[in-house]
Amino acid sequence: MKKFPLVFLIIVLVAQTVQEFVSAEEFEYDQFKAFVILDPGHGGKDSGAVSPSGILEKNVTLSIAQKVARRLSEYGVSVLLTRTDDRFLSLKERNLFIKKHRPDLSISIHANSSPYPHVKGFESFMYFKQKKTGFLLCSVEDLDPGRFLYPMSVSGQARENRCMQLAYFIHRKTIQLTGANDRGVKSGNFYVIKHNQSPSLLVETGFLSNRRESEKLAQHEYQEKLAQGLADGSMLAMFGKVNALSVIAVPNKEKPNDSR
Ligand SMILES: [Zn+2]
Repeated sequence: MKKFPLVFLIIVLVAQTVQEFVSAEEFEYDQFKAFVILDPGHGGKDSGAVSPSGILEKNVTLSIAQKVARRLSEYGVSVLLTRTDDRFLSLKERNLFIKKHRPDLSISIHANSSPYPHVKGFESFMYFKQKKTGFLLCSVEDLDPGRFLYPMSVSGQARENRCMQLAYFIHRKTIQLTGANDRGVKSGNFYVIKHNQSPSLLVETGFLSNRRESEKLAQHEYQEKLAQGLADGSMLAMFGKVNALSVIAVPNKEKPNDSR
């Protein structure tokens, strides 16, 4: 009998956690709100990287994504996750999910692994394609210059800088708050960020192959620091400040549409 209240408490806590995130079916698009999709890497039969002590990447990425989602929601941002539980999603399914919902920003969250156990740190990837002119252009084809309050105007070279700015703000803020070894913002040829029409970033939050970093990645406190970095960085990238009124400058007239 004594066990009953504890079981009940656990059920209530689990129910509350589940309730915090709206499923894609229930999601109602608000054209005045910034909209971010978080994509926790791996899941189900695909564990991703595994630390020497058995910490699985799929669990770390989901836990961090849920913390980022909570923070962004508190800032008034609409958030969807590609997965909210331990299930397998192919890269194509993730990509289709992001394409269908057309967020203002998507962040794929991963943890890294290296054959060299001393390697550690946080790195961010965006997809750049080499143009004939020699310019590096972000994968963002339909970046809407008026949608965010910051910066006010974006065109030509500035548009490319805007893509870098997204990565830069999010990366820098996360390094600042976690104190992680800075491995920089890089160009990555990853499927999720390559075949995507919205600004997309992939972050490698740390190395599970490094014993100390893997222990940190499994820690609630460190995950909160990473989450704050990613959420605050996203706000800085979109609005120029963390405590912004997260109402976008120009509502998106194209959304919602029939394909949603
Ligand atoms: Zn991964």
